[in-house]
Amino acid sequence: MTSLLLRTAAALAVIGSSSAMAKDNNDFDYTVDRFADIEVLRYRVPGFEELPLQQKKLVYYLTEAALYGRDILWDQNNKYNLQLRDLLENIYKSYDGDKNNPQFKAFETYLKQVEFGNGIHHHYSMDKFTPAFTREFFADRVSRLPKDKQPENADILTKLIFDPAFMAKKVNQAEGEDLIMTSANNLYEGVTQAEVEAYFAAIKDTTDTTPVMYGLNTRVTKDDDGNVIEQQYKVGGLYSDAIVKIVENLEKASALAENQAQRAAIDKLIQYYKSGDLKDFDEYSILWTADTGSRVDFINGFIESYDDPLGMTGSWESIVNFKNLEASHRTEIISDNAQWFESHSPVDPRFRKDEVKGVTAKVITAAILAGDSYPATPIGINLPNSNWIRAAHGSKSVTIENITQAYDEASHGNGFNEEFVDDPAMRDMMDKYLFITDNLHTDLHECLGHASGKLLPGVDPDALKAHGSTLEEARADLFALYYIADPKLVELGLIDNPDAYKPQYYKYLLNGLMTQLMRIEPGKDVEEAHMRNRKLISEWVLEQGAANNVVSLENKNGKTYVRVNDYPALRNLFGQLLAEIQRIKSEGDYETGAALVEKYGVKVDPALHREVLDRYANLSIAPYKGFVNPVYTPVTDNNGNITDITVSYSEDYLPQMFRYSENYGTLGK
Ligand code: ZN
Repeated sequence: MTSLLLRTAAALAVIGSSSAMAKDNNDFDYTVDRFADIEVLRYRVPGFEELPLQQKKLVYYLTEAALYGRDILWDQNNKYNLQLRDLLENIYKSYDGDKNNPQFKAFETYLKQVEFGNGIHHHYSMDKFTPAFTREFFADRVSRLPKDKQPENADILTKLIFDPAFMAKKVNQAEGEDLIMTSANNLYEGVTQAEVEAYFAAIKDTTDTTPVMYGLNTRVTKDDDGNVIEQQYKVGGLYSDAIVKIVENLEKASALAENQAQRAAIDKLIQYYKSGDLKDFDEYSILWTADTGSRVDFINGFIESYDDPLGMTGSWESIVNFKNLEASHRTEIISDNAQWFESHSPVDPRFRKDEVKGVTAKVITAAILAGDSYPATPIGINLPNSNWIRAAHGSKSVTIENITQAYDEASHGNGFNEEFVDDPAMRDMMDKYLFITDNLHTDLHECLGHASGKLLPGVDPDALKAHGSTLEEARADLFALYYIADPKLVELGLIDNPDAYKPQYYKYLLNGLMTQLMRIEPGKDVEEAHMRNRKLISEWVLEQGAANNVVSLENKNGKTYVRVNDYPALRNLFGQLLAEIQRIKSEGDYETGAALVEKYGVKVDPALHREVLDRYANLSIAPYKGFVNPVYTPVTDNNGNITDITVSYSEDYLPQMFRYSENYGTLGK
């Protein structure tokens, strides 16, 4: 399964580009909270106030449908997460001791981390959080809770917090291990990887040209007789209490739909949540893809499969948004020219799409982030994920510009560029062009990259298995990198300087070779698909270009700097690797794909890693960022009719989490 959500957000934004864009937001305070390796920001929703009332109400009910899914993701991430959250929140809220007590401070940090991870594992590294408070402090606080708030399985929850080996990794990707038995998520229970693979091999019809996305909305376990079974997420099935509330709000949204196409999509989604039938989901995806005329749009469901080591089950998520009409002009130009890009791509013509279908691209303003997109969020999305639907019906691609804007604004003056870029001229170029080229990279990655290319007939879309996500992201990134340097972009008026791609190239390599390592703990490998992808691309061009000195690493005064010595040659290397990875994907060449990932994308040079961590530590930049949502409040008249929806940005991080647990907690206990 291809996974198409661009999760580069924090990685790109942490790179501290300060843009030369007009700043009228200086009075807006972006930073909400800072703890551990996290900075929490807020984002604005420009244009919401100007929406017609009906669209405001539509957005509002869709945001309610989004927030009601929160507990689903928590439970998918680990079967104890909801109980643990309940316990931690109760301890925190009832704490009446000294708030400056280091034990309490450490507990507070841990709670904030758990809230950010939607559970006990880090959202990105997948590792369990390490508590800095003692068992004694914890046991004491538990014992002070009223009896009805003390959990029955306090011993297991204690083990979960304090035993590093117990449920250590949310998703284990280590080659050669049973990836299901060793992953702590709750997508499988009591089954081995071999059993799951045998089960799906038996039910998959390989001659079906329009296959459903097997396992997308199910938990796989065994029945009483030991047979492998799937439990569906649906009304009346798993997570019913949450899904009922989602459906209720989708029904209200349906009544407010802007047009028939949008209503048809919402109604089909409701039908799918009721039936659990993946054919309904495919029909919904087709209707959703076809709805390109509406101002308001959303995703809501079991979508991306990064949290499943086998890449099948979708994590629940939702993003509600509306089109940024002005900025969408940019992506419309790109999608209008999609066929030109496809026909000129450096890949073997056999692997190109003869006819690029319905790639629609737009720039959107996010109104709410939820489930797997909250608090850490993507900055671009290209859906649906089903390969045959994409081929037959196209896809929708978005760049979330109020989020990229928030990242950009919040990163001003953080010292990053001064530390890692020793060439003042390059820093100037970064200031001038990174905001626009970051957005263009996202547009190209999502709108064209993921949508490009085709599989040869009979190739299993899952053939690249555990490396599928990394190679798919590499393909999309390479497509973007190759074309961001193309004179066509100047010709199309998307960029005003033919050298604007250079800071984008520079920053990409700096990130892939060095700075993204600040997210990895010493001694660990790179695991996350997007990080592996960036490392793979960067290390590959460094090695392949070595003979001609295309890219190099230079040590100056004990510090390593990236040197790009030949930009046109670098672009050629990106093109070559794109052609090779497209071939791997089109032919389902698992062996070569796995070898590429293993050789270039995984292993970390310990000395360089240490250096990056040390240089970062001096800057005190949070490696990861996420967001609190705005608060939407209906205004009603005397008869209870909604006359307006207001938006406010004043809610803080933990209060928002507690409010969500209180108001949208559907599955606890
Ligand atoms: Zn992507």
